[in-house]
Amino acid sequence: MSYHPYRTYRTTVARREQLSPHFVRLTLTGPDLGHFGTTGLDQRIKLVLPLADGSFTDVGQFDESIGMMQWYRRWRELPDEKRNPIRTYTIRSVRPRSREIDIDFVLHGTEGPASAWASTAAPSDPVVVVGPDARSAETGGVEWNPGTARSVLIAGDETAVPAICAIVEALPAHLTGSVYIEVPTEADALPLAAPDGMTVTWLARGGTAHGLRLSAAVHAWGEAQAAERAPRSAGSRGRAAAERGATPSGRAEAEFSEPRDDEVLWDVPESSSGSCYAWLAGEASTITALRRHLVRDLGIDRRSVAFMGYWRRGRAEAS
Ligand SMILES: Cc1cc2nc3c(=O)[nH]c(=O)nc-3n(C[C@H](O)[C@H](O)[C@H](O)COP(=O)(O)OP(=O)(O)OC[C@H]3O[C@@H](n4cnc5c(N)ncnc54)[C@H](O)[C@@H]3O)c2cc1C
Repeated sequence: MSYHPYRTYRTTVARREQLSPHFVRLTLTGPDLGHFGTTGLDQRIKLVLPLADGSFTDVGQFDESIGMMQWYRRWRELPDEKRNPIRTYTIRSVRPRSREIDIDFVLHGTEGPASAWASTAAPSDPVVVVGPDARSAETGGVEWNPGTARSVLIAGDETAVPAICAIVEALPAHLTGSVYIEVPTEADALPLAAPDGMTVTWLARGGTAHGLRLSAAVHAWGEAQAAERAPRSAGSRGRAAAERGATPSGRAEAEFSEPRDDEVLWDVPESSSGSCYAWLAGEASTITALRRHLVRDLGIDRRSVAFMGYWRRGRAEAS
């Protein structure tokens, strides 16, 4: 028997843990999660959320004889009031033996159905997960792919925290590099064990604009890289600024602009062969500007830069 790489899982909330002011971890359990794919890293999944009355419209999502695209087409044709919201998340941990998975949600208010649901979800509440099937010969939904790189740059906002944490925890000991993570407040910096050669910098946004501190840190990282090839003293100055999480610079601020509607917000190289690999994820305008900076200003080969707009300011996720 052959299996689709992705399948639909019936789950319910088993536990809820408030990790920090803006992160809640929901542990989901379900009878079929023993087959859930365990690649980890930035493995993405889809969540099908209940309608306001708690129901899920039947579009054949649990019918194993039809493919995902078939039920998804039916779902798209439903009237708004019958169409369960679908949103994209990352698997933080998988425990097939206990038939459990963890998902870390950013609580950004109740405007979006996913954040609204997560803010009150309680044990035994149902949610449907579309995720990888370990029995399939194919895999999908994982973008982290540093190839032969010896050093890495990882940068993201709070929505990328689950992916970044899972990636960093799995890094081989020989990789070196820098990780910059912008989160709403200092208290949102989560415990993260990194290999010795990696420096992890949490950047608390506080009252600054979304993405500004992250942009400033990546610009400072770029300056440190450039200075690395110049006299030693300048190099250590730039590196120190980046590792302090640099204060917003005029340059980073000037880079900040809304992506156009036709602009690509997601591009990942199929294989990376450079010595440096960059992985960027978070709000689309910030991430697009950072990718532009790495490729255009710093001359990093675009085939070594994976960038992913995880959400877009002022826009609900288009499923
Ligand atoms: C591959 C991938 C993996 C992801 N993994 C995670 C994850 O593990 N955890 C996680 O929390 N998110 C994750 N996200 C981001 C998440 O899908 C979006 O934040 C999504 O928009 C949330 O849905 P919603 O229903 O809450 O809001 P939506 O209905 O999509 O949006 C409603 C409004 O809220 C705004 N908005 C959306 N997200 C945020 C935010 N974080 N902060 C402030 N405003 C926001 C939108 O711009 C819009 O104006 C991931 C996204 C992708 C593409």
